[in-house]
Amino acid sequence: MNFHILTLFPEMVMNGLNTSIIGRAVDRDLLSIEAVNIRDYAFNKHQSVDDYPYGGGAGMLMQAEPVYLAYKAVEDAILKRKREELESVKSGGESKTEDACKNNGNETKLRVVYLSPQGDVFSQEMAEELAQEEDLILLCGHYEGIDERVLEEIVTDYVSIGDYVLTGGELPAMVMVDAVSRLVPGVLHNDVSAEFESFQDNLLEYPQYSRPEEWHGRKVPEVLMSGHHANIEKWRREQSILRTKERRPDLLEKCELTEKEKKWLKNLPK
Ligand code: SAM
Repeated sequence: MNFHILTLFPEMVMNGLNTSIIGRAVDRDLLSIEAVNIRDYAFNKHQSVDDYPYGGGAGMLMQAEPVYLAYKAVEDAILKRKREELESVKSGGESKTEDACKNNGNETKLRVVYLSPQGDVFSQEMAEELAQEEDLILLCGHYEGIDERVLEEIVTDYVSIGDYVLTGGELPAMVMVDAVSRLVPGVLHNDVSAEFESFQDNLLEYPQYSRPEEWHGRKVPEVLMSGHHANIEKWRREQSILRTKERRPDLLEKCELTEKEKKWLKNLPK
């Protein structure tokens, strides 16, 4: 999967994403991450990319043209790559992308996400959906945001990472890249570790323990050391349900519990 991040602070994004699991996935060619500096597309000699908002008001606004030119450069490069892949398929070479065939190399609808406090709140479900894309363009705003006209022209999705206002879209873009990347096959060591986690089936994950068996007088629950897999699964499922009830009752309402589990939950001591 390829991430293309349009930003005024490419070093910030790249420094944050070039480490640990994501960095290793890049080294292994499972992911590619490029940060495109919008300032490189400034059209004046001072390389400024912001201006005062019409109608007055506090702060500066990122101008439409540099954002558009940065986007166009990325779009052109993606379409060129897809055309080349298609040519290679046609000439009997290895198929790197089914997408190139399906779209005949030129009808690809690129997903362009504008990170904005006004967007849909990012979720695991959204991460799962976006992980299906081959390319994802993430647009980071700064100052008071970006001229509305370029957003209307290029943006397909508006995504927020929560109901608070940050100084820029870089941290939200990094959050999204991290959450989406770990769902790309091969990025995590073991695909199972992405499967049984919080938010799967609208449940939070059960508590986990490692060595030693006793720490500060606290013992690991006996069932986990019994080696009885069915009992361990049952215990984990129950713990997930209890934890979700306690910490995120809103999620539990959306969770599909069996009749037996509903009865068990109802009969728990208050
Ligand atoms: N004036 C804008 C408003 O009230 O909606 C806020 C602009 S904010 C100071 C600057 C940039 O930070 C935004 O363009 C956006 O890219 C990013 N940003 C701030 N908070 C965010 C959030 N909660 N989620 C995603 N992006 C955010």
